[in-house]
Amino acid sequence: MLFKVQLLTIMRLIRKVWHEFINLFYPRACPVCGEILLDTDSERCVCMVCRAELQRPLSPRSSHVMLEDRLEGNLDFVHAACAYYFQKDSAVQKLVHMLKYHGREDIGEMLGRDLGRVLLDSGKFSSVDCVVPVPLHKKRLRKRGYNQCEAIARGVSEVTGWRIECEALSRKIYNESQTKMSGEQRWENSAGIFSLDAPDKIAGKNVLVIDDIITTGATMASCCAELSKASGVQLYVASVACTC
Ligand SMILES: [Zn+2]
Repeated sequence: MLFKVQLLTIMRLIRKVWHEFINLFYPRACPVCGEILLDTDSERCVCMVCRAELQRPLSPRSSHVMLEDRLEGNLDFVHAACAYYFQKDSAVQKLVHMLKYHGREDIGEMLGRDLGRVLLDSGKFSSVDCVVPVPLHKKRLRKRGYNQCEAIARGVSEVTGWRIECEALSRKIYNESQTKMSGEQRWENSAGIFSLDAPDKIAGKNVLVIDDIITTGATMASCCAELSKASGVQLYVASVACTC
């Protein structure tokens, strides 16, 4: 046991020294503006200037109210919240792009920690038992190598302590990317694409479903429709950002 602890400490130390060595030649840059990051905890992923930009409210309406209004009537949920507004060419868009297409799971974890703090501060999510990240189809998972929503869920879990549940739900239909689709096409494209594989894992639980961006709410509605087949389940919804 002691040997194992010592080994882990040594491995962590080697990793740290290696990263510092790499940083000497290739200093880390902010994924939003490209400035070199300071070697401090506050600039682990994004520079302070871009972080401030990220947190600037874009609408006088609270993003929580906006998201709840959008989802109301399309799915049964207790509460919904998001951390940021999503706009074209915004810092959030650049970060989510890096997370999804450039292997930057660390950015997902950072955004997840931000979201976790928003959820705790709102006081509306204290009953949550577990977190279900929106699953990727296994074909896309193979291609990308990871599920970006799981990275976000890890960040949320780090702050809140909520368990992550990845076995209950899967995506059974490989659908096309929805980025260029109209609202109506998104609803058609998302219907019936998920499958509840292990209802026992979530039965009787308060489940928080997590996505990266909520646009029309079509994917989330499809996800929640499937999850609600488990008995006694109560659904909560959260995303890093929603379009305004
Ligand atoms: Zn920056």
